Amino acid sequence: MNKMITQPADRQAEYRKLPAVDALLRLPAVALLAAEYGDAATTASVRAVLAAARAAIAAGADAPAADTWEERVQAHLTATDAPSLRPAINATGVILHTNLGRAPLSPAALAAVQAVATGYSSLEYDLAAGTRGSRHDHARQLLRDLTGAEDAMVVNNNAAAVYLALGALCQGRSVLISRSQIVEIGGGFRIPDVLRQSGAHLVEVGTTNRTHARDFAAAITAETAAILRVHSSNFKQVGFVTMPELDELAALARARGILLIDDLGSGTLIDTTAYGLAPEPMVQQSVAAGAHLITFSGDKLLGGPQAGLIVGQAELVERLRRHPMARALRVDKMTLAALEATLRSYRRARASDEIPVWQMLAAPAEAIAGRAARWQARLAEAGIDAQVQPGESAVGGGSLPGETLPTWLLAVAAAAPDAAAARLRNGPLPIVCRIQHGCLIFDPRTVLADQETPLLDTLVAEFGHTGE
Ligand SMILES: *Cc1c(COP(=O)(O)O)cnc(C)c1O
Repeated sequence: MNKMITQPADRQAEYRKLPAVDALLRLPAVALLAAEYGDAATTASVRAVLAAARAAIAAGADAPAADTWEERVQAHLTATDAPSLRPAINATGVILHTNLGRAPLSPAALAAVQAVATGYSSLEYDLAAGTRGSRHDHARQLLRDLTGAEDAMVVNNNAAAVYLALGALCQGRSVLISRSQIVEIGGGFRIPDVLRQSGAHLVEVGTTNRTHARDFAAAITAETAAILRVHSSNFKQVGFVTMPELDELAALARARGILLIDDLGSGTLIDTTAYGLAPEPMVQQSVAAGAHLITFSGDKLLGGPQAGLIVGQAELVERLRRHPMARALRVDKMTLAALEATLRSYRRARASDEIPVWQMLAAPAEAIAGRAARWQARLAEAGIDAQVQPGESAVGGGSLPGETLPTWLLAVAAAAPDAAAARLRNGPLPIVCRIQHGCLIFDPRTVLADQETPLLDTLVAEFGHTGE
């Protein structure tokens, strides 16, 4: 009983030790923080820190020591001022990791972004004529040269490209799709939903595993605007499976006066089989096979910024450019700058030397083994016992489903691997890795060269005392 009466009195004494908001704001160090972070943010942090102290007292703690307030306010301000979108180290070995931002940009692409982003640019200005120009002119010739298409256009992403193509060319009419291609790409992008939103009607053709050209031929009516082919980006069908070749579908579409739209998803300008990978459809091949419009992503295997690239017949691309939705789906100058620089690497045949995605795809297993061994040696110096072991990297990002590349991994045993991985994710430079059999697994393939030192420093700090 006594305890219950005296406890609240103790608590009252602790509450009374809490300074007033104004008193904290007048502390010299806090005043300096206000000069850096602004009065409003600093006052909000002071209130938050006091509220946290009151909550702690209510839970039985004592009031914080008087000399700790400045650092408490500082810590809260730093935390709330930190950006939400932050750089991270991808040690998962998944090259096109959609959740980690897909393709890292090449240094040339970054330099191009910087050059146009911090000043004015010729975004919609014809410098030769001194008159208004079009943002659609940038990257256009590069895309034509690289794909062989008559014309090209850039929108916000490939989802937007498919939506615009269907909305502008197929609205109110029907679109034929094989039952094997009525798919969900990820992030809720479902082909039937996109069709419905675009105002086109979906007509399913064939069966889940087998669709023939004659199935498409039989389904064409006066209502039919197009055949849509959708690349099965994130799954693989094996066994008793058939789809007509693209040139067969193109011939059918031409003969019947409808369009063939080819959503390649990733697509590629470089032959993936030269890298020991399964064939990924090449944009040039779709153009040559006679697809009327082809759409693909800027930040999948192309290795550039987020964008949707549309190439194909000039008259159709022109209709897309004129469509009112084109304005809503248009890209920014930074995207165009990064895209042009990326495409220039391809035109100079330097993509696999200059574009990070292709450098990672091309990295020889021996080179990765060498990096893993260097990491192991560095950790050994700090008394950490890590193993180098063979494993697989993944391409990811809706391209080459199920395709892996042989790699070498660094495995660090941890007593509580989930907790250790969480600490690595929540550090100043977040590290994302895999967990397997009680070990944290780091794949050098997706760790950029300039991230090695911070990665290893962090691992030494995290595991440095456990191995001793
Ligand atoms: C990835 C993908 C998309 C969406 O592309 P984004 O650039 O992510 O919008 C659409 N279709 C297919 C077949 C894809 O693989």
